[in-house]
Amino acid sequence: NASFAKMLIVFTVSGGGLVALSEAKSEDGMNIVNSTEANDKKKRVVVLGTGWAGTSFLKNLKNSSYDVQVISPRNFFAFTPLLPSVTCGTVEARSIVEPIRNIVRRKNVAVHYWEAECFKIDAENKKVYCRSNLDEKEEIVVDYDYLVIAIGARANTFNIPGVAENCHFLKEIEDAQKIRRTVIDCFERASLPTLSDEERKKILHFVVVGGGPTGVEFAAELHDYVNEDLVKLYPKVKEAVKITLLEATDHILNMFDKRITAFAEEKFQRDGIDVKTGAMVIKVSDKEISTKEVKKDGAVSTTPYGMVVWSTGIGTRPVVMDFMKQIGQGNRRVLATDEWLRVEGCDNIYALGDCATINQRRVMEDIWAIFHKADKDNSGTLTVKEFQEVLDDICERYPQVELYLKNRKMSSLADLLKDSKGDSVKESVEVNLEEFKTALSQVDSQMKNLPATAQVAAQQGSYLADCFNRMEECEKNPEGPLRFRGEGRHRFRPFRYKHFGQFAPLGGEQTAAQLPGDWVSIGHSTQWLWYSVYASKLVSWRTRALVVSDWVRRFIFGRDSSGI
Ligand code: FAD
Repeated sequence: NASFAKMLIVFTVSGGGLVALSEAKSEDGMNIVNSTEANDKKKRVVVLGTGWAGTSFLKNLKNSSYDVQVISPRNFFAFTPLLPSVTCGTVEARSIVEPIRNIVRRKNVAVHYWEAECFKIDAENKKVYCRSNLDEKEEIVVDYDYLVIAIGARANTFNIPGVAENCHFLKEIEDAQKIRRTVIDCFERASLPTLSDEERKKILHFVVVGGGPTGVEFAAELHDYVNEDLVKLYPKVKEAVKITLLEATDHILNMFDKRITAFAEEKFQRDGIDVKTGAMVIKVSDKEISTKEVKKDGAVSTTPYGMVVWSTGIGTRPVVMDFMKQIGQGNRRVLATDEWLRVEGCDNIYALGDCATINQRRVMEDIWAIFHKADKDNSGTLTVKEFQEVLDDICERYPQVELYLKNRKMSSLADLLKDSKGDSVKESVEVNLEEFKTALSQVDSQMKNLPATAQVAAQQGSYLADCFNRMEECEKNPEGPLRFRGEGRHRFRPFRYKHFGQFAPLGGEQTAAQLPGDWVSIGHSTQWLWYSVYASKLVSWRTRALVVSDWVRRFIFGRDSSGI
């Protein structure tokens, strides 16, 4: 190519095979990187992100017919559920991270990692544009055959003035380390002899915004840290410490069972954590945080603080936003995919984890198409028996529908219909499809997007890897479910999420758990369940050993308070 000013071939040994890394510079000075096996037959898979989704995909990819390039500004995987423990030194930051090169080292698949951040996806020309973290001037263009977007999300500030500038976030390892240093700095500053009591109280006022699982866990951790460790070292300032938890809705942990919410609110009250519900933050200055009462008269109040931790959910990364505009999804919050995790409207691009969601509207259109197909004589009616048969097919393809029926203790669409019409439906009665559509719309409104959790991201990563592992074989022998758009069969079954439950650590060696089947467990024994589940979920034996030894160290010596 005439535009290439320079061509450089580097040979390196990877996974036992000889791999050629070709690097070229375009006229405008951009590096164009390709890595191909000597035989050059491999399909190039580019993976963006080394978080839960990306790492799970890489760990489970076994087919050596791919040439994989991983691009992420972070050369490690971080076990995010233990980030709140890092903020208070219960667990060390190093204990919950595993270098990505370690994770992919022993694989028979050729995997190359670039420490860079993708800033543009060009779906038309199948290229991604990246900027090196280490040298910001270096721009790299990478070609792909398949692109896996797993770049997660960023903290959502809702564009509230002063949040980005003055608040701490809890998304990355660096955030947790920064919080840990700031807590200790606050205690040291408050201990200076020149301060008034008023100033001391202000510096030791810790505000947590967001009553979701992360905000609640952080508030609980901080409370334990202060009461079990810091009060012994800073006895003179202990009376000045205050922790406030602000939540805009009526309750904290409102995605959990009511029993858990009530227990958490009571426990926090007993512990002296000031939980303010119905309080919407409207501004954060460098010294004060302003809130507005959501329900009452909308009264605005302003409180001085020493540190604010912002934990109110997730927002879209700029590169994803830009990409969504390109592909006509500009009005969405996250990338829409089908149930096979393929980005809608794009070829060979997959999106998983926090940056994507399965498009439920399309799912409903598909379900509706299935019913129309079953209505062979176009009469607009089906018998209940026929309904039931179609239902079995739908439940097989769409776990959301099955889940909806289960949640409402229904076993059939006939029950659903009965529910919507308020009377019984007999086997022999024909059911009007238009009426049924109304009933179906209930499913639509109740089918929620999958939650943005590590559980979903990891399951999607391993599902997609499995599809990639069987891609060639399935192209020859497609055995998946029937297509309803066009002819033939899908190569794979759609993604199916299995929920294993959710924890909410509440401090004082107590945890709440909501397990499948709405089984709720709260207390000290659940804390031990939490310890064992999280120890087992850690990504390697090395991190497992480190985390367990951190827990033991904390039991014996308490948390470290040096703020390093
Ligand atoms: P991430 O894990 O965030 O990974 C994104 C990756 O993309 C990172 O490697 C990042 O460096 C990389 N990246 C970012 N920008 C770019 C770019 N431009 N180009 C290339 N790469 C990029 N979930 C649970 O199920 N249970 C829990 O207990 C739990 N606790 C949590 C506690 C905290 C404090 C937090 C913050 C989250 C918690 N979660 C939990 C949620 C869970 O961490 C996320 O849902 C999960 O990380 C999503 O995985 P992901 O792969 O989509 O994104």
